[in-house]
Amino acid sequence: MTNSPDNNGVKPRRHRIAAALGVVVALTLVIAVVAGLLTRVPTLQPDAGSQVALNPSQQAQPIAPPPVATLPPAPQPQPVPQQPSSQLITPAQPQLQTTMPLPVQIPAQIQNPTPAQVPVQIPAQIPVPIPAPSQNVQLPPPVATDSQQAWLRFAGPSPATRDRPRIAIVIDDLGLDRARTERAIGLPAAVTMSFLAYAGNLPQQTAAARKNGHELLVHVPMEPLNARIDMGPNGLATGQPKEEVLRRLRWDLERFDGYVGINNHMGSRFTGDAESMGWVVDELKSRGLMFMDSRTIAASLGAKTAAGAGVPYVERDVFLDDDQSAPAVQARLNDLEETAKRKGTAVAIGHPHDATLNALITWLTTLQQKGFVLVPLTDIVKARLGLG
Ligand SMILES: [Zn+2]
Repeated sequence: MTNSPDNNGVKPRRHRIAAALGVVVALTLVIAVVAGLLTRVPTLQPDAGSQVALNPSQQAQPIAPPPVATLPPAPQPQPVPQQPSSQLITPAQPQLQTTMPLPVQIPAQIQNPTPAQVPVQIPAQIPVPIPAPSQNVQLPPPVATDSQQAWLRFAGPSPATRDRPRIAIVIDDLGLDRARTERAIGLPAAVTMSFLAYAGNLPQQTAAARKNGHELLVHVPMEPLNARIDMGPNGLATGQPKEEVLRRLRWDLERFDGYVGINNHMGSRFTGDAESMGWVVDELKSRGLMFMDSRTIAASLGAKTAAGAGVPYVERDVFLDDDQSAPAVQARLNDLEETAKRKGTAVAIGHPHDATLNALITWLTTLQQKGFVLVPLTDIVKARLGLG
């Protein structure tokens, strides 16, 4: 009964002695070397290191441990240096969320950030590049850097006329059909332009629109009631968790800059979902952006949700070209005039169809003599919110 505890007690002690001896021997060698050096250069002795060199003969005595602790090359070979690199994984992981597998191709090393790969291929300090539409990388939340909100900072100039009914025209779905987008950009500056978030070459296209004086919106795809209708890539849907809705929205908002807000592309289902819309308007609020409810369905909660969150908003009154025939478009323009007379302001959405663009080019020249004034969309937002 006493054997095993005794043995257990003795063994480590022997080990310790052996280790100590090993240390002493190593130390002896070090001291011998140091002493050798010091004897060659006898003037260098004023600091702590000199204590070791003063008594080279004492090295054989087992009193050595104190100097051991003070010597720089401490003889405790703890193979810890790898630990920091494995800890680097921890800060890197929040950026590399593996939330949901998504359709667009993702570079292999980003898609599956196994701990073994991450420290080698993606140093934690290097920010992950802006993702493709469906990549699993979460963008950092936006930070308001300007004292003036974006919807005011990028607003087009409001005309001086205050006593006449105001009309705003928004052309959305822009960016896919380059030729018709260019035609739309050729319309008067007060016509507002909304570019589809997933269109290509957006920085160049939107810069051209801005150069011509147009106010800009991001046209954000949102889920329609009819599941057979394709809302396009990277759309916001009611089945998505908050993180996914925000990840997609933030991607949309990074596509170009200089816009005043967003309006929904489709969205007859999504805009009817109070919780999902709440996430969207909260994001808009944090960025100082406005929301235009396209009102693709009467039951949309977009404007109501924006109002509740204190986000500047406006609702469409008239769609110009559900029917793309010239007479139908003209009839909608007449409706728009009637709305403006009745409410003092009116907002229409049109699309880059030939019938719409042709009708607008003619009709816009008649507005002034009819007593209306064409304004950028933000002018109507201000008017309806009592800001101008
Ligand atoms: Zn649209």
